[in-house]
Amino acid sequence: MTHPKEEMTLVLVKGDGVQRGLVGEILHRFERVGLKIKAMKMVWPDSSIINTHYDPSNTAWLETVGNKALKGYEKKGIKVDKTALEIGQHVQENLLKYLSAGPVVAFVLQGAHVVEVVRKLVGATDPLSATPGTIRGDYSVDSYGMSDSDDRSIRNLIHASGTVEEAKHEIEIWFDQNELHNYTLPYDEVVYDKKWENKQALLNE
Ligand code: ADP
Repeated sequence: MTHPKEEMTLVLVKGDGVQRGLVGEILHRFERVGLKIKAMKMVWPDSSIINTHYDPSNTAWLETVGNKALKGYEKKGIKVDKTALEIGQHVQENLLKYLSAGPVVAFVLQGAHVVEVVRKLVGATDPLSATPGTIRGDYSVDSYGMSDSDDRSIRNLIHASGTVEEAKHEIEIWFDQNELHNYTLPYDEVVYDKKWENKQALLNE
């Protein structure tokens, strides 16, 4: 079994994040929590990579996206005459335009519980509902309401893998194996070495 510190996730700072000059700010949040940057690059995505990442034939994912939107409508008392799948398909079409609008910065982060930690720091899909302190809550004023009335994707700055399995698949889409780097950080020992306390005690003997 791999050590929890080996877990990896994929992050994309989407075009709006890049063009608002937030790459450094966003990276800083992940570095300061103690995560390691395993790989990083800038890519102007074409439809082929976007459709592999946000796969229009993945009906389970399309329905999840649609159901999330339907719940939001229900909360606001808005009646919608579309199925979850139809909504998901339309979201996917708009995502194609959103992701191809400019370069994105893709990176792989590594560390214990990285998928969960990163999703927690990223916040909810809808920036208007995202908790203050999260990236989407702190840096975006967008909302489902506004993106719906403009018929576009919600501009929420960032993508992060939802599960460990999803992360494995997404990392393969964006990076070759030889682009993932193994190196140490000086604080790896403090965070992960189970003998760290003993070593400190020895220093004071
Ligand atoms: P997340 O990025 O939070 O994991 P999803 O995987 O559900 O969210 O959706 C992918 C992306 O599609 C979102 O980040 C957002 O940019 C866009 N999106 C999702 N649902 C909607 C919607 N109902 N209206 C507009 N854009 C949406």
